Amino acid sequence: MKKAKIKNNYFKSQNVDVNMNDSKKLIYAGKAKDVYETEKEDEVIVTFRDDITAGDGDKKDNLKGKGECNSLISSKLFEVLEEKDIKTQYIKLIENGSMLSKKLDMLPLEVIARNIATGSLLKKFPFKENQKLDPPIIQMDYKNDEYHDPMLNDEITKALGLATQEELDEIKEITLKINEVLSKFLKEKEILLVDFKLEFGKDSQGNIVLGDEISPDTCRYWDIHTLKTLDKDSFRQSQDNVMDIYKQVCNMIVDENDLKKWNINN
Ligand code: 5GP
Repeated sequence: MKKAKIKNNYFKSQNVDVNMNDSKKLIYAGKAKDVYETEKEDEVIVTFRDDITAGDGDKKDNLKGKGECNSLISSKLFEVLEEKDIKTQYIKLIENGSMLSKKLDMLPLEVIARNIATGSLLKKFPFKENQKLDPPIIQMDYKNDEYHDPMLNDEITKALGLATQEELDEIKEITLKINEVLSKFLKEKEILLVDFKLEFGKDSQGNIVLGDEISPDTCRYWDIHTLKTLDKDSFRQSQDNVMDIYKQVCNMIVDENDLKKWNINN
């Protein structure tokens, strides 16, 4: 996918300074994304990098174009959620690979929703492979590299002071709604939403808001007809066509009208 050729005055008219070559301060560098400050205290720029990791960071690579693909997919899915009144950090895609977002105080939780039993669930519990999970399972892991993201329960989460019961209840309710909205949207795109991981934060008013990204890095997508993997499992399994798969998913989810609206030339 080609880099967007966006005119300079586009940014001026949007009142956003996105020149990454100036001295914008890097606030946070994750495994696949960077967060930069903006002129506004409550807004940040999230840039999606080409780095990809798996297996607790043991397996690493850099896939040209992955960051751009994930920024487009995430932007589209955040917009789909916003249309259904689900609060997200997303403000707009400012160029291919970079998203203007609300600044959030992130909770160290990985909120996982599962519609089908696969992945780490099968290593921990005697579910049948590909068993349908109805109602879906919501699981929370502690986002902490030192402790290797262990699974939490509400009591441990509260005892660690990570969230209150009210916040946990709200997060679970929002996650179920997100699962409903995204499962329906992706089904129309012939993608089965198997499971996914979300991260939430609090905005300046203390509201719980969806942050991070929703992309093939953080979800399991299967081809609805063949059940073929369309996500990071292709990298985990060392397939040689990982970027082709990411581009295919991007083409399935993002359409020409989206690119036009975002001023992106493909
Ligand atoms: P599992 O627990 O089966 O490995 O993962 C369940 C779902 O959550 C998958 O869609 C997986 O991609 C996502 N997930 C779980 N933990 C992480 C993580 O630490 N990083 C990312 N990017 N995704 C995760």
